[in-house]
Amino acid sequence: MSGDRVIGVDLGGTKILAGLVGRDGTVGETHEVPTPTESQDALLAGLEKAVAGLFSDGVAALGFGVPSVVDPATGVSLGSINIPLEGVSVAAVLGERFGVPAGVENDATAAALGEWRVGAGRGVDDLLMLTLGTGVGGGVVLGGRLFRGWAELGHMVVVADGPPCQGACSGRGHLEAVASGNAADRAAEGLWGPGATAEQLVERARGGDAEAVGALEQIGRLLGVGIGSLVNVFGARLVVVGGGFGIAAAPFLFGPALEVARREALAPGREGLRIVAAELGEDAGLVGAGFVGFAALDGER
Ligand SMILES: [Zn+2]
Repeated sequence: MSGDRVIGVDLGGTKILAGLVGRDGTVGETHEVPTPTESQDALLAGLEKAVAGLFSDGVAALGFGVPSVVDPATGVSLGSINIPLEGVSVAAVLGERFGVPAGVENDATAAALGEWRVGAGRGVDDLLMLTLGTGVGGGVVLGGRLFRGWAELGHMVVVADGPPCQGACSGRGHLEAVASGNAADRAAEGLWGPGATAEQLVERARGGDAEAVGALEQIGRLLGVGIGSLVNVFGARLVVVGGGFGIAAAPFLFGPALEVARREALAPGREGLRIVAAELGEDAGLVGAGFVGFAALDGER
């Protein structure tokens, strides 16, 4: 890593991943702490701890990806489904605390930026990003520009009157309610009882367990329902799937998802439709957050 470097921070529902990021998207040292969810103050202290673990004089800026609806003009988190963060800009707070420029973006929007610049979306003008983790995040690149508004793709309805969504969301049958890592936890519990997890679901599917494979394929079909509708809305033909659960379960999700998405999407969107795993893997959000930091450093936001 040469030249400028920034600290990118990917704030997730269960962990905060911070890392040194270079202008070319390379990741150096990283530092991970659990996400404090008992209060907003605790959460901000956790972010400070994650940054402090890496901060040195050579760090030029900070960039954050947060699982919130973020006001693109002010960086203020207007609301969050799975963490206690509302009415504050983490970039303003942490930038002031460390005395460097700082920027903030929705976490999945940051992941989309990372994959577009240096990952699976290099060279395309249109892509959709879905991150399947604690929740389901969404990011959109259209016409060669990152969409910086509210793209809560995880809260689109895919099952009318379906299972309740989670956290602060009042909806039902949202993509997040049926295709997130938490939804996979519930599918595992449905098969094997309380305490069973998405990790076990994926592990048993890899071992050839037909019930586990079937449960993941069902999640894949519902993911495909959502993707088909998104293709009809945006016309993008590249869908990049990231997030811990999305990447781990990719071999079982993508086939059924593509089959259903092609059924639902109109021509010409369905032709050439590709669903691919995030090339940066679970670092997509971190790398994207780094680019958000560079944008702040360069005065672009
Ligand atoms: Zn929802």
